[in-house]
Amino acid sequence: MSIKEKDSLYIANTYARFDVEIVSGKGSYLYDDKGKEYIDMCTGIAVNTLGVADEGWIAAVSAQLGKVQHVSNLYYSAPQAELAELLCRRTGMKKVFFGNSGAEANECAIKVARKYAAEKKGAEYNTIITLVNSFHGRTITTLAATGQDVFHKDFLPLTEGFKYAVANDIESVRALVAEGGIAAVMVEPVQGEGGVMPLTREFCEELNALAEEHDILIIADEVQTGNGRTGELYGYMALGLRPDVVSTAKGLAGGLPMGACMMNEKTAGVLTAGSHGSTFGGNPVSAAGALYVMSRLTDELLDEVKEKSDYVFSALKGKSGIKSVSGMGLMIGIETERDAGEVIAKCIENGVIPLKAKNKVRLLPALNIPREALEKAVAVIIEAARI
Ligand SMILES: *Cc1c(COP(=O)(O)O)cnc(C)c1O
Repeated sequence: MSIKEKDSLYIANTYARFDVEIVSGKGSYLYDDKGKEYIDMCTGIAVNTLGVADEGWIAAVSAQLGKVQHVSNLYYSAPQAELAELLCRRTGMKKVFFGNSGAEANECAIKVARKYAAEKKGAEYNTIITLVNSFHGRTITTLAATGQDVFHKDFLPLTEGFKYAVANDIESVRALVAEGGIAAVMVEPVQGEGGVMPLTREFCEELNALAEEHDILIIADEVQTGNGRTGELYGYMALGLRPDVVSTAKGLAGGLPMGACMMNEKTAGVLTAGSHGSTFGGNPVSAAGALYVMSRLTDELLDEVKEKSDYVFSALKGKSGIKSVSGMGLMIGIETERDAGEVIAKCIENGVIPLKAKNKVRLLPALNIPREALEKAVAVIIEAARI
């Protein structure tokens, strides 16, 4: 049986896979089972921050693997403590809880918000406002947080206590706040799965003020936008949003599973011994990978992300078959005249792997993608979108 046959026979049918089997890679290049080369504009959905097989990252992760691969959270372990310190120093947040995925980081954020509100305002303040078209994960609670009915269908009843406002429409948030019982507002600085749509600075500033007025927490879901993706270390920094809780995952450890929920001075004391936990959370190998990724996310690299972003926006704008370009940093959505799926298929045929977000072609390349590879990929995308 071929890999494709085994996959369809034995793996749960949750993914509509593209007809490509990736076997290896180097930097921003991937190779399939037939040896065909692709420029990677997906990075495993914003996970391989420094591309594939980065030598420094391999050395950092291998060194930790040679020491101990897992330590229970019943004991102290240096890599997670060092990583938590670094995250706090670079964000101004005060404490970190480590999990293994984006959904878990958001579960933690939701638990923190509910406990904070229950203790401070009363148990009836348990509702979290999220946005229409948001994506916050696949667990029953993060599905409830996800403001898209298509994901809810067939899984009802979901966790109670979520209401949906409209992105960049502060009046829609205000109306829900007026209904009472609100613990927090949870937003993605740039909606990823929802079509690569950034929040506006104005909306973020109004949200800061509204949250402060009503003692409502702001949760920034930085699972996709975090760790340099937007050209700032975290997307909220680019928008002037002032979150009390920040969740992140995807690119944090550069390719290993890791999620983090960061809490500011207001929320740092909410979680107490026994109130939350994770067996794998803060795994030393993942933490070593994340420490290395963080060491590479310098101001120079972040400036490079912004420059490359400017290049992609200006190269794509106004080209035949391209209706609009949205996003921030190296998180870019392209609205095409032709069906996005068709454009993506054409790109893959021509050796470039982008991905999809709603009806858009989405680009999430490695932050250190060489300029030459980026230019080649953009040329292929332009050609594939041409009408
Ligand atoms: C991918 C994503 C998640 C879910 O992360 P998993 O690691 O798949 O659980 C949550 N929020 C956002 C914004 C995401 O992009």
